[in-house]
Amino acid sequence: MSQEIRKMPRPVPKLNADTEAWWAGLRRHELLVQECASCGHLLHPPGPMCPECRSLDRGWRKSDGSGKVYSWVVVNRPMHPYFFDKAPFPVVLVEMKEGFRVVGAIDCEIDRLCDGLPVEVDFEDVNDSFSMLLFRVIQ
Ligand SMILES: [Zn+2]
Repeated sequence: MSQEIRKMPRPVPKLNADTEAWWAGLRRHELLVQECASCGHLLHPPGPMCPECRSLDRGWRKSDGSGKVYSWVVVNRPMHPYFFDKAPFPVVLVEMKEGFRVVGAIDCEIDRLCDGLPVEVDFEDVNDSFSMLLFRVIQ
């Protein structure tokens, strides 16, 4: 592996009008979920319209940050060079206490992962502009 690949910065997401506030929340170390202002449906990932009532009126609610592992995958062959020397690593789908599900990294040994594993949200500061979700197992 060349030195150029090893020094490649971590990839960051592209923002759009629907996701910008969510990423800004992560940067402040807050996990937000989009909430329909008409019917209260929680929507993640964020989108322009409520799938339940088709309202375009949206707001944000701060999650309390606790949830349980709903499912996971183990990445053995990363697509981006930044992650080549980090594999294998797990990526989890967590069902938050409020009922919505979100994908994130987890600081946990792969053999320890199981359905219903209680976790809490934490944040990994990637650079001056981005923070990523990083779940931690509740002991
Ligand atoms: Zn709605």
